[in-house]
Amino acid sequence: MLPETRQLLKLTDTTAAKLEKLHLHSAWDLALHLPLRYEDETQIVPIAAAAVGEICQVEGVVVYQEVQFKPRKQLIARIQDGSGAMLNLRFIHFYPSHQKQLAQGETVRVLGEIKRGYFGDEMIHPKIKSAEKSDLAQSLTPIYPTTNGLNQPTLRKAVQAALNAVDVSEILPDTVLRKLKLPSLAESLRTLHHPPPDLDMKTLANGAFPAWQRLKFDELLAQQLSMRLARQRRRSGHAKSLVGNGFLSEKLLGNLPFRLTAAQEKVCAEIRADLAKSVPMHRLLQGDVGSGKTIVAALSALVALENDGVQVAVMAPTEILAEQHFIKFKQWFEPLGISVAWLSGSLKKKEKDQAKAALADGRIRLAVGTHALFQHDVLFDNLALVIVDEQHRFGVAQRLALKNKGDDVHQLMMSATPIPRTLAMSFFADLDVSSIDELPPNRTPIKTKLVNHLRRAEVEGFVLNTCQKGQQAYWVCPLIEESETLQLQTATETWQNLQAALPNLKIGLVHGRMKPAEKAAVMAEFVSGSLNVLVATTVIEVGVDVPNASLMVIEHAERMGLAQLHQLRGRVGRGAAASTCVLLFAEPLGQISKARLKVIYEHTDGFEIARQDLEIRGPGEFLGARQSGAPMLRFADLATDVPLLEQARQLAPRLIMEYPEVVEKHLERWLGSKEGFLAA
Ligand code: ADP
Ligand code: MG
Repeated sequence: MLPETRQLLKLTDTTAAKLEKLHLHSAWDLALHLPLRYEDETQIVPIAAAAVGEICQVEGVVVYQEVQFKPRKQLIARIQDGSGAMLNLRFIHFYPSHQKQLAQGETVRVLGEIKRGYFGDEMIHPKIKSAEKSDLAQSLTPIYPTTNGLNQPTLRKAVQAALNAVDVSEILPDTVLRKLKLPSLAESLRTLHHPPPDLDMKTLANGAFPAWQRLKFDELLAQQLSMRLARQRRRSGHAKSLVGNGFLSEKLLGNLPFRLTAAQEKVCAEIRADLAKSVPMHRLLQGDVGSGKTIVAALSALVALENDGVQVAVMAPTEILAEQHFIKFKQWFEPLGISVAWLSGSLKKKEKDQAKAALADGRIRLAVGTHALFQHDVLFDNLALVIVDEQHRFGVAQRLALKNKGDDVHQLMMSATPIPRTLAMSFFADLDVSSIDELPPNRTPIKTKLVNHLRRAEVEGFVLNTCQKGQQAYWVCPLIEESETLQLQTATETWQNLQAALPNLKIGLVHGRMKPAEKAAVMAEFVSGSLNVLVATTVIEVGVDVPNASLMVIEHAERMGLAQLHQLRGRVGRGAAASTCVLLFAEPLGQISKARLKVIYEHTDGFEIARQDLEIRGPGEFLGARQSGAPMLRFADLATDVPLLEQARQLAPRLIMEYPEVVEKHLERWLGSKEGFLAA
């Protein structure tokens, strides 16, 4: 936060630091920090009329108080009001001040949710006020999203100061406003921060409420504008026009044991056409798991490499996947006389320096690696094409780092996770999309089985059977999000148990905590077939390609997301043998788990799975917003606000053409401190 802002809003250093944690940096950020919900302190509900599950305010005289020590230390008080009814108040954490406030005979006003307790209805940790000292509120009390150590009154004061400091006058042209039929921004902000007395909670909680609609619209408009401008900037950039002579790609195609599918041919042609232009390519290559995106990437790289001195970088989100690509590209490219550099965070300094030097002076023209490729100290001599695999797995920060390498390179992004329509219209509006819509021939479909984990022994028998036929198996350990240590421990135990149960098989283990070299060694053993079974944590999730593996066992499948399950399952079914995916689950199953397992059991098509996934969990997670820590859309909901999105999408180009000053102001308000964020 700028010192000027802090001064203007009269914030202490501590408060300013807390606000930063909430990604609130400017006065406008604060003005647009809207309540999450409201509390009703405008009325007092008779205790007799307060229903269980309701959040309400009641008032009464304290008739009893006790500090109990069993089953744990807690403060219990009981109040009684004019209706004659009583209500218990329970505090598990409390201070002497609470005891004083709740002394017998005091009249208090408490606000909280009514719960059914052992000894009648109760409130746990209600908000307490002395009835004599406080007037009833005139309007609903806003409750803001906050962070540890920043209380509501302080936050409210900061927001108020910001509202007084910013100029909320209307900037959208009148003609636009008339058509929109939404309240002004000033009025909307006032209503949401300080609801007038006649507004009730239900109205305010409804996203269709006009004031909310206005905020959502403005937010979507900011996003559309920033996307369009990013696109314009890119279009006005200049990339090297890359026209290949086909010499290298013909050779590679001749060396392959298979022929490209029609779908692969089609996307290769689309990419070639883009590369030939001097406008930077910005293309997403979509194709389901196993559809053969890697060879398309390699052929695209060759189009570039057929031009003198040009360099290509291939980036993958995990070390395992990056290394697999490295091995594959080496195997494909070295016979063509092209050497490949490897760059990852885990390389020894000396090796890294060597790779960097070779890239800086152009000796090596193809680099494969993790996002270590785009650290600021990695310089390329003549980088013209960047290929990003499993694009959706990269966080926003990593995508920005890549973007900062210059608007003047061609970019090919690849993903197995299809983009739902609303996202294609919004966040990915500046991408061109190519789809591989058919799988290579002769794939036998994967059979999916849902098995209760109590039948583990049978599954182990199935693993033995499969391996005795000369095929291989993955055994994926349960995901434990809360603790990496526990995850590791579970993986090790699973591995030991499996070894004990199947003593005749060679079983390896890979997990996230291993050193990359160790990981690579185990992977290499599995690829070569000297390991029968690979026990793995979900590090195996993306991109790993071992065609001889025909069995995938996933433990505690009920804990995993659909995209993850689909990706994992896609590790098998890559060879000629019939493949099976066994999903072990433990009961009881929650609603969402049940819904997910049903979808993964019934469908194999990644597009359909993604569509249903979106229905189950909403679009937020799709964007990787969780990784970045900051939500990308705060108010608008891409599932329900499609009409607003359409309007914003239509308006954006007109504003850019006819009202450039409005565009600038609007973006300043919405993105001032988050420049570039939405466009990443
Ligand atoms: P993904 O799209 O999931 O990245 P890969 O590129 O890893 O898929 O390809 C999956 C497997 O299919 C690989 O073993 C690859 O060699 C093979 N493959 C790719 N294209 C073809 C094709 N046209 N015919 C047969 N096999 C193919
Ligand atoms: Mg892949």
